[in-house]
Amino acid sequence: MSVTLENIVSLCKRRGFIYPSAEIYGGLNGVYDTGHFGVLMKENIRAIWKKSVALAGYQTIYMEGSLLGPETLWQASGHVSNFHDPMIDCLHCKKRYRADDINIEKPCIHCGNKHWTDVRQFNLMFKTELGAAQGNTSLAYLRPETAQAIFVNFKNVYSSNRVKIPFGIAQVGKAFRNEITPKQFLFRMREFEQMEVEWFCHPNESIDFFEQWCQKRKLFYEYIGLNLNKIRFRPHAKDELSHYSKQTTDIEYEFPFGWKELEGIAHRGDFDLTQHSKNAGKDLSIFDEETKSAFMPHVVECSVGLDRLFLTLLFDAYHTETVEGEDRIVLKLHPRIAPVKAVVLPLVKKLTDNAMPVFNQLEQKGFHVLFDDSGSIGKRYRRYDEIGVPVCFTFDFNSIDDHCVTARNRDTLQQERISINSVGEYMLKLLL
Ligand code: ATP
Repeated sequence: MSVTLENIVSLCKRRGFIYPSAEIYGGLNGVYDTGHFGVLMKENIRAIWKKSVALAGYQTIYMEGSLLGPETLWQASGHVSNFHDPMIDCLHCKKRYRADDINIEKPCIHCGNKHWTDVRQFNLMFKTELGAAQGNTSLAYLRPETAQAIFVNFKNVYSSNRVKIPFGIAQVGKAFRNEITPKQFLFRMREFEQMEVEWFCHPNESIDFFEQWCQKRKLFYEYIGLNLNKIRFRPHAKDELSHYSKQTTDIEYEFPFGWKELEGIAHRGDFDLTQHSKNAGKDLSIFDEETKSAFMPHVVECSVGLDRLFLTLLFDAYHTETVEGEDRIVLKLHPRIAPVKAVVLPLVKKLTDNAMPVFNQLEQKGFHVLFDDSGSIGKRYRRYDEIGVPVCFTFDFNSIDDHCVTARNRDTLQQERISINSVGEYMLKLLL
């Protein structure tokens, strides 16, 4: 049976990955809260992404920009005039759509009438005012992408880190978009997190770097265990390119609702640095000591939504199986991504004190582990399968004498007896 969006939404809530935001007040559309296992899993994704861009064989510098930016910045970046989606309303049932999501030659899919408003352009940025005094406030926007904070800090980063072109600036942080129709759970949210690297290089090298980054990003997805058969690289047609882009390739994943963008790799040329140089009146070009001339670096950007990737990993990992006549749901997450790496299970409550040193040993070695001594062993296995815990260590009555536990592999269900002294090594091998 193939996984549905409803399966994922329900598992996320049941097992404490993701909750609807402010649910007791009816929720806020397109906004979600993250539970314990969601937090841990996101931390793993962030950490691996950060390493993947830093270890790409080049220099990459990290930064964190502010969430609010002045109107002047967003005017210069083109977002005030261009960051729009086309919107249309059904005059009959008042349902609102993104005009490019529906066929307006056909009736409304909600009420069956064909009575549309004109298509209007809707700016996706959240606008706010800074300052308390009336008439003395200034306009600001919550950032709709993390990238601009990188461009406006380009010279600060360049001079304070003593880097040379080519180099990258990477950032993980929140972005906000007032999406017309947030949908598909974490796929299209109004508040989400992006992981972006902007690679600054000489214009002559930008095409080469664009190709190299496409390859490197594929390795990242392989490393976190995503099924590469469900990933494809789709170059944008000319008329599809964003206002800043010379060339873009989307990395798409085959979701149950079709092939959709997971990550965008864009050749932004010198669009952003030139715009900010002009509008801020600050020269952001670089002086090339060899040719004794100034040039504006070109930028290759890799941008992926953390929440969208989180959702993708859940879709990829979700399996239903029948084991010994019983149905089980199992998240076959790569051990590197799994929120918790192992759980220690005393067979019965009586063995709790005896089993505790196994847990302590693993925790002291720095592994994120759980301990659970309540309920039948079968029920406990099912619970940790659903959370994606790669291995269960069961401590039984024999363990007291033979100093061994049974390691049960989440995916193969194979059980092997291993010495308690070697559980740390066992985990290290699993995480290699
Ligand atoms: P889409 O076409 O799906 O709206 P986009 O082309 O506008 O995406 P980008 O501006 O390229 O997206 O953003 C980079 C990445 O940020 C996307 O590939 C996606 O992973 C993530 N992202 C963008 N918008 C959202 C959103 N509303 N909710 C969750 N993730 C998002």
